[in-house]
Amino acid sequence: MYKYLFGPVPSRRLGMSLGIDLVPKKVCSLDCVYCEVGKTTKLTLERKEYILFDKVKEELIDFFNDNPNPDYITFSGYGEPTLNICIGKILRFIKQIRPNIPVAVLTNGTMLIDKDVRDAIKDADVVLPSLDAATQAAFQKINRPSKGLTINKYIEGLIEFRNEFKGKMWLEIFILPGYNNNEEELTELRKAIVKINPDSVQLNTLDRPGTVRDIRGTTAEEMKRVANFLKLDNLEIIAAAPARKNIKSYRKDTETAIIETIARRPCTVDDLAKISGLHTNEINKYLAVLDAENKIETLEQERGIFYQIKEKI
Ligand code: SF4
Repeated sequence: MYKYLFGPVPSRRLGMSLGIDLVPKKVCSLDCVYCEVGKTTKLTLERKEYILFDKVKEELIDFFNDNPNPDYITFSGYGEPTLNICIGKILRFIKQIRPNIPVAVLTNGTMLIDKDVRDAIKDADVVLPSLDAATQAAFQKINRPSKGLTINKYIEGLIEFRNEFKGKMWLEIFILPGYNNNEEELTELRKAIVKINPDSVQLNTLDRPGTVRDIRGTTAEEMKRVANFLKLDNLEIIAAAPARKNIKSYRKDTETAIIETIARRPCTVDDLAKISGLHTNEINKYLAVLDAENKIETLEQERGIFYQIKEKI
């Protein structure tokens, strides 16, 4: 059982992906309303060795001693991975021991304004930054940034990175009704995307409840409208949760274990992670499928959002 490695997790875009956590829960430069990890408890721009290089190295060596190669190794997890000052060193170590496994970085992209951060991840194969707003007002409302972060600097960092980076850049945009799906915001977003010039633009939305009440995901129809409005050649809509079931790494036994656990008593994502030993990111993926299939429902309680089996009428 690892502390900083998790999965491999089934991912539509990255296949069977071994995740690496580089910051503890929950260190991030943003506090997005839709965050599935939960509320940011340390909102910061400070880069430091939040998780020690040696610890991650030790786990990686152990993992590769008796596990098959995953399709990808991905920096993701509990917060913003580029806040760990050792990300470049860990990336180089992976490339040294497993040069043939592609490495992906899931980042909110806010730190790319810093040349050290751009240099640290330049050897990744794919970088997946996000951008959900192009005006300061929407940025504040959706992403609730750390003090000192402005939308202009954020976009500037993404442009700089695109100009320097030789790998693939897939820009992810989270569409939230009432937050960034109006024509004014979409017009500004389009302008920013054209300037950034990523290899692809991926529209995504909320699978399940975020940290704020009353936010909801975008329907397939609304998503199509947004895509038509943005009119970009390299745009794709991320498949809805049920499609995850079709990827080869989706594990029926994991799904069954989750169903059996919440059939006994309602659980939060954290409870399920503790019981199963799986990372919350992995649990989230299975819950999204079950939710989309209408098999589970949520209850909001003091300790957070609980999942339970839907009563059959
Ligand atoms: S950037 Fe990612 S980890 Fe940070 S708050 Fe937003 S969704 Fe959560």
